[in-house]
Amino acid sequence: MSAITMTPFSEPEERVALREAVARLAGKYGHDYIARQAASGEKTTELWLEMGRHGFLGVNLPEEYGGGGGGMADLAAVLEEAAAAGAPLLMMVVSPAICGSIIARCGTEDQKRRWLPSIADGTLLMAFGITEADAGSNSHQISTTATRDGDEWVLNGQKTFISGVDEAQAVLVVSRTQDAKTGKLKPALFVVPTDAAGFSKQVIPMAWSAPEKQFTLFLDDVRVPADALVGDEDGGLWQLFAGLNPERIMGGALTCGQARYALGRAVEYAKTRTVWKEPIGAHQGIAHPLAKVKIELEQARLLWQKAAALYDAGDDFAAGEFANMAKYAGGEVACNATDVAVQTHGGNGLTVEYGLANQLIAARLGRIAPVSREMILNFVAMHSLGLPKSY
Ligand SMILES: Cc1cc2nc3c(=O)[nH]c(=O)nc-3n(C[C@H](O)[C@H](O)[C@H](O)COP(=O)(O)OP(=O)(O)OC[C@H]3O[C@@H](n4cnc5c(N)ncnc54)[C@H](O)[C@@H]3O)c2cc1C
Repeated sequence: MSAITMTPFSEPEERVALREAVARLAGKYGHDYIARQAASGEKTTELWLEMGRHGFLGVNLPEEYGGGGGGMADLAAVLEEAAAAGAPLLMMVVSPAICGSIIARCGTEDQKRRWLPSIADGTLLMAFGITEADAGSNSHQISTTATRDGDEWVLNGQKTFISGVDEAQAVLVVSRTQDAKTGKLKPALFVVPTDAAGFSKQVIPMAWSAPEKQFTLFLDDVRVPADALVGDEDGGLWQLFAGLNPERIMGGALTCGQARYALGRAVEYAKTRTVWKEPIGAHQGIAHPLAKVKIELEQARLLWQKAAALYDAGDDFAAGEFANMAKYAGGEVACNATDVAVQTHGGNGLTVEYGLANQLIAARLGRIAPVSREMILNFVAMHSLGLPKSY
């Protein structure tokens, strides 16, 4: 079963070729592979490493550190194609996009040499932990702390919903350090190895069947060396935003890929399933919702492409606005596309065999994480429209 074919909008030839190569590779594995791995509790390691060997995972990272020297638009195109082929590689949002971008932009030379080549070839996976149960969407309220003790930092706190920790060798943890002069807490990022003493995890049972699992993390007096701090202790929020724009652009691309996959499945079914004289796709009750999704999908793709182009051009501020809108639009179209695909399949849409019902939850994730639909609407209301803040 194939995903719907897209007409690229003024993308460079190299990116079009990249898309085709990724679609071929991911298509070899496809939805059946992901569903099998999820059902048997296995990971997508084989696919992940093959993507890494072909240079697809590190396409955005600098060449001198093992990457492809491309941009976020290339990495997002890779993820969109993989997801459209039925392989939505969630950890691409985290390891090469968030962690890779932060280390490439804010890390020391040593940190770049140590982490980036293996993030790029996929042999190392780095998770990202910001969310805390008591803070939720209000990440200014996080209470994980890092305190300097001689040559080390000591981390204490808890994180929740952190993806892929069982596959990761390290987690980039958002923590807070205390300003020596003012006593104020400031965000700071630390690479914490998953085998560090005092670091433990507990899986969160989720209703969605996927190879990637979510975890609660416990950091109890976890000691990391001074050079585990990525970026400047006084660098402020921009270091975090070096990762959050990529996170949103990738969220937009991932959900567009999911929508393409669902739409492709629905169109194929609508062309072949016949219960009256004509295939069901001849009925406008089936055709129009599919056409509407196609339009919404093209809108959402333009948004992440614009956000990525702005980010790659170094305009972080404008990229932020469009990355948020792209993430919103992608989440909406993934939900709509999957819902329409289930409806098009009738009863088959809810069977395990057709694998679409599970996609409903996977698509729903795009409205909640990494930033919720409501928080994006808040952002757009305040920053794009200049409306007052309510919280
Ligand atoms: C499958 C999955 C994977 C994830 N992976 C990671 C990960 O790898 N790393 C990580 O750090 N986090 C991860 N997360 C966490 C994710 O980023 C959070 O779930 C998300 O940011 C929302 O936070 P919350 O769940 O605490 O919801 P809450 O903040 O409790 O919000 C609950 C509801 O209230 C709404 N709300 C809250 N405040 C406002 C407001 N001011 N105005 C209007 N509405 C508001 C929200 O939009 C939401 O609908 C993951 C989550 C899931 C489900």
